[in-house]
Amino acid sequence: MNLFSQSLLAWFDQSGRHDLPWQSHITPYRVWVSEIMLQQTQVKTVIPYYLAFMARFPTLADLAHASQEAVLAHWSGLGYYARGRNLHKAAQLIMQQHNGEFPQTFADIVALPGIGRSTAGAILAIALKQRYAILDGNVKRVLSRYYALPGWPGEKVIETDLWLKADALTPQARFADYTQAIMDLGATLCTRTRPKCAQCPVASTCQAWSTQSVAQFPQAKPKKLKPIKQTVMLILENVHGQVLLEQRPQQGIWGGLWSFPEHESVAACKASLNMALQTPPAEQQSLIEWHAIRHTFSHYHLDIQPVYVRLVEQQAAPYNGVWVNQHDLQNGFTGCDNPLGIPAPVTKLISLINVDASSTIKTNTSKE
Ligand code: SF4
Repeated sequence: MNLFSQSLLAWFDQSGRHDLPWQSHITPYRVWVSEIMLQQTQVKTVIPYYLAFMARFPTLADLAHASQEAVLAHWSGLGYYARGRNLHKAAQLIMQQHNGEFPQTFADIVALPGIGRSTAGAILAIALKQRYAILDGNVKRVLSRYYALPGWPGEKVIETDLWLKADALTPQARFADYTQAIMDLGATLCTRTRPKCAQCPVASTCQAWSTQSVAQFPQAKPKKLKPIKQTVMLILENVHGQVLLEQRPQQGIWGGLWSFPEHESVAACKASLNMALQTPPAEQQSLIEWHAIRHTFSHYHLDIQPVYVRLVEQQAAPYNGVWVNQHDLQNGFTGCDNPLGIPAPVTKLISLINVDASSTIKTNTSKE
């Protein structure tokens, strides 16, 4: 027997929990119900629900023959009601497919609704005396710390590694006690916050504890990466040094604010500009791509590719835009009925119009 399981079992014999309601009169049905109730729910919350449930549905057949309303009424307050519905559905399946006898193999058990690999392992180890590992949330936390495993345990590759470790640590004997013991360790000592490492039976070989880095494990779920959207903004400057702005629709980002005309791509921008101008830019000026800038919203990044065009002939304002003096913009533009609101990246781009071109230009002039 490995040192981990030896130390754990010795501690369990002395200090583990031996009087939980599902630890007496052990049957697959009783262990199954307890395991389902204990998912995402603490032992002390589960106990009264478990006792009431067992009083009302003492056997698997009682559960299968009950109405769903009756089952859910006994689940009321426990939360995650899919657990109750699946329990009921699985009981009916067992009646139909297994003649009311709780299945005895991993494949048959894990095929039932609401039973994953860890729950199946717990039922097999505790009630059917078969050697299977478990890896519920508590065990993931214990093993992540014990091995000081970097990475979020919900990640597939980390989870696979944890399963291998969980299996390797499960002893060849006393696996029912071991299963209960590792669950107890996670629930009572290796708790999510303020673990009691000084009392822990495996502290001497725990890597997180020995490196004083317990708080770093398990690593938190990585924050979801924000999607990146892209747009091309056309910065059009006329011969008087005015820039073209248009008002954005009320709906959507920057609703009602004033901004540069936008396009999906530089090519689309060029094509649209040729259509919009009285004298197409091909005949009169250069088009310059500046370095892209990123603006971050709460739920996505917007990468803005600025395209700068300086007209060399006077033109009427194209699109639905207005020509605006840069000076007015710098001093708070009020050149239309309503004071202008200008998004921050647009203000930034306007401020770059007159700076040294070498710091803004990304690719060189492309003649149209
Ligand atoms: S020493 Fe601390 S961190 Fe390591 S397994 Fe024990 S309780 Fe968990």
